[in-house]
Amino acid sequence: MTRTLTNWAGNITYAAKELHRPSSLDALRALVADSSRVRVLGSGHSFNEIAEPGADGVLLSLTALPPGVDVDTAARTVRVSGGVRYAELARRVHEHGFALHNMASLPHISVAGSVATGTHGSGVTNGSLASAVREVELITADGSSLTIGRGDERFGGAVTSLGALGVVTALTLDLEPDFEVSQHVFTELPLEDLDFETVAASAYSVSLFTDWGHPGFRQVWLKRRTDQPLPDFPWAAPATKAMHPVPGMPARNCTEQLGVPGPWHERLPHFRAEFTPSSGAELQSEYLLARSDAPAALDALDAIRGTIAPLLQICEVRTVAADDQWLSPAYGRDTVALHFTWVEETEAVLPVVRRVERALEPFEPRPHWGKVFTVPPAVLRERYPRLGEFKALVEELDPAGTFTNAFVGDFLQPLS
Ligand SMILES: Cc1cc2nc3c(=O)[nH]c(=O)nc-3n(C[C@H](O)[C@H](O)[C@H](O)COP(=O)(O)OP(=O)(O)OC[C@H]3O[C@@H](n4cnc5c(N)ncnc54)[C@H](O)[C@@H]3O)c2cc1C
Repeated sequence: MTRTLTNWAGNITYAAKELHRPSSLDALRALVADSSRVRVLGSGHSFNEIAEPGADGVLLSLTALPPGVDVDTAARTVRVSGGVRYAELARRVHEHGFALHNMASLPHISVAGSVATGTHGSGVTNGSLASAVREVELITADGSSLTIGRGDERFGGAVTSLGALGVVTALTLDLEPDFEVSQHVFTELPLEDLDFETVAASAYSVSLFTDWGHPGFRQVWLKRRTDQPLPDFPWAAPATKAMHPVPGMPARNCTEQLGVPGPWHERLPHFRAEFTPSSGAELQSEYLLARSDAPAALDALDAIRGTIAPLLQICEVRTVAADDQWLSPAYGRDTVALHFTWVEETEAVLPVVRRVERALEPFEPRPHWGKVFTVPPAVLRERYPRLGEFKALVEELDPAGTFTNAFVGDFLQPLS
């Protein structure tokens, strides 16, 4: 089957020889074993060529495979198959009286694609979504099955793997008891005298939004667990109506606010599962750096806000707890994540992306793997101290480079 396919934002048309949607694991196995270049497409929400196999390669979608979500109540885990999205996973987990520790802003993204790129929500004690994964089931280049779980010395490379190890056919995730969250929006938090650590820790999950039109945050979203105390938030005024983080966009697409308690999966994402959050008319970039550098990094962005603001829809600041996935942008450091939703004009946006990267350079940021960035591969390599181990894992599992595309290959070069 051959056809032209773009990502969600429409800024990437994937170069591929063929697109396949196998409907059984045996068919998937045979396709992989017969192909010299393969990449898997998740839900296509990345903004760069990370999923692209190249003109001579096969793009595989897992959407025709049976969508398994199996909760193990006794073990407090869920096994989810490779093509499933968070919205479906969360609904099923909640039905069983359990919860995931966190979610990204959007529930429409696939689980396997999200953890492959280090996707995260917010919260000083919340690791990236990959940190909930305890076992990965793969089909490797020769078509055979391999399971890598916590405790295996290869596990550090197995989850946030950029799709470079094989086809992830299932993931097993830790669950916690179901919990409720209430969402409170505050407006107009000044940057001056901002105590970032205190603000970021003032709820289970905190997001700060600015359009960089002025030195401060237009909105702060607090997602409070109802089983935890409600600290005061004296630094900004509570919103009196529901709001969308992007000025002028309708709040009806957003998860319920104004402090109304609700299940975790209907409050932790910013956008409702039943609505398409926006048209896709946007580009995104994000840089993850040490949380202790947040005040200085925000000042560095404030100094260039006149350059940023004209092409920006919204900037979101979140936190991520350190994790131990070798290629995770939050590897080894408690992190602040500085996110930019740009207008969809690539030519105009790229020079501003470069300007942002120059401003943040002193903080050695790691770009989000699924978003737009221009940091050269040689610089990126220096920012991942466990890269050598990851390369060794790729060589072990995929010596012919079946799952290595141009994006990943540029980063991994030289392989040994
Ligand atoms: C509107 C929007 C909101 C977003 N919000 C957030 C956010 O809140 N936080 C955040 O961190 N990021 C966010 N992102 C970024 C997004 O989470 C990542 O780009 C993520 O990778 C998307 O998952 P996907 O399934 O669409 O991946 P794709 O773009 O389809 O693929 C990403 C990578 O995963 C690999 N992959 C996918 N499935 C498999 C599989 N089964 N086996 C092997 N490899 C696989 C692909 O080959 C590719 O390398 C957002 C993106 C959009 C468009």
